[in-house]
Amino acid sequence: MPARSFRPDRLAVAAFAEAAQTLEGQEPQERFARLVESLLPPADGLREPVRWSARGERRRPRVGPPQAWLHLSAHTRGWMTCQRCLEALPVELRIEEQPFRFVESEAVAAELDEEVEEDLLVLSTAFDLHTLIEDELLLTLPWVPRHAQCAGVAGSTVPVRLEAEPDEAAPTEEAVPEPRRPSPFAGLAQLKTLRPAAEAGDSGEPPPNPPPASLPPAASTPNPTPTPRRPPRPR
Ligand SMILES: [Zn+2]
Repeated sequence: MPARSFRPDRLAVAAFAEAAQTLEGQEPQERFARLVESLLPPADGLREPVRWSARGERRRPRVGPPQAWLHLSAHTRGWMTCQRCLEALPVELRIEEQPFRFVESEAVAAELDEEVEEDLLVLSTAFDLHTLIEDELLLTLPWVPRHAQCAGVAGSTVPVRLEAEPDEAAPTEEAVPEPRRPSPFAGLAQLKTLRPAAEAGDSGEPPPNPPPASLPPAASTPNPTPTPRRPPRPR
C-alpha cells in the first residue's frame, strides 16, 4: 500500500504497521485546541507549528501473533505562566520516538496493562493520530512551570538582583542580610523559614493557581515519580 493512502486523521493502523510506513506533518498549533488552551497567547501572536512524525512497525514476537506498533515524535513550543514570578515562561514540548502497541480490544488492553511496560492502544482502521499527538504533547507540559531563575520577584517587575545590593543579600544565599540596611528580601527569607517545604522542590508544593481543566490526569499528579501508568486508551 503506497504511503500516500495513509491518512493521519483516519489511520489504518495494522496496515500502516505492516507496511512499516512513516507519516510526517506540520500543523498550525491553533488546530490543537486543548493545547492552545493550556498555553499563554504568545506576545507576538505567532504560535509555533506542531511538527510530528509517526512510524509504523510490525513486530513478530517468538510467541503469539504479530504486533502492530507505532512510534510517535512531535515537537512544538509555547509559553506558560511561571508559578513563582507569574511572568511568561517559554516551554518546549517534545516527544521522541514514543512507542505504542496496538491490541485487538479494550479487554485485551486492560488484561495486558498489568503485564507490559508499553502504552497500549486499541487497533482501528480509522485511528485519529491528531488526538494522540495532542494527548502526548499535553502530557509533556510541566505541572509547576517555573523559570530556573526568575528575573523578578513575585507579582512585581523589580529585579531580584538590585545594583546596590551585595550578592549576599540574594534570597538564595545563606548569609544574613546586613543589619543596618534591611534587605528587601527579609520578608521572603521569613517566608522561607515559615514554609520550608515550599522551597524543597516540585514535589509537594501545590501550585498557587488551580491547573487548567484541560490538563490530562497523568499530568496532574503532583509528585512526578514514579511515573504513573497510563490507562489503555479507548480508540
Ligand atoms: Zn519565574
